[in-house]
Amino acid sequence: MPVYEYRGLGINIPDNDSEYKEYFEAAGDHRLVVRKCLGCGLLRGEPGHGCPWCASLEWEWHEVSGKGTIYSYQIVAHTVLPGFRDWAPYPIVLVELDEQRGQPTPDDGLRITANLLDENMAPEKEENVAIGGRVEVMFMDLENGLTLPQFKLSDEPPQGPVWRHPV
Ligand SMILES: [Zn+2]
Repeated sequence: MPVYEYRGLGINIPDNDSEYKEYFEAAGDHRLVVRKCLGCGLLRGEPGHGCPWCASLEWEWHEVSGKGTIYSYQIVAHTVLPGFRDWAPYPIVLVELDEQRGQPTPDDGLRITANLLDENMAPEKEENVAIGGRVEVMFMDLENGLTLPQFKLSDEPPQGPVWRHPV
């Protein structure tokens, strides 16, 4: 795969990159995938070959629904990345996906970090972001052929207690 340009940044995904190559190939098909451990069967969303629960190095890609709840978030007020300056202030959300809530312990889950965008692929307004808010994946198809999974607020009512930074 070539080096892709995105907002002035180069995104390099070499053919031997087992961390991200197939992830972006799935995104190109508008599928969101995470790793599934072949040792204990648990899903995980962060990079890395070793399972954080059982240390197994065996895993496969697993498609998920892309539906989840905002577990936490922050507002980026000043970005060090020049390509995102016109976005600031913008939210970054930690999404807890529905597939594995409360596993393997009641405080754990399948969580991934994401941008929260609106229908026009612009950053969601801070006043609309809240812990407990329901989100779903959408796919940003760039003209250069790369597809980026992004998240947007869904129509579903919030789950659990809702909390947001005082604005
Ligand atoms: Zn495992």
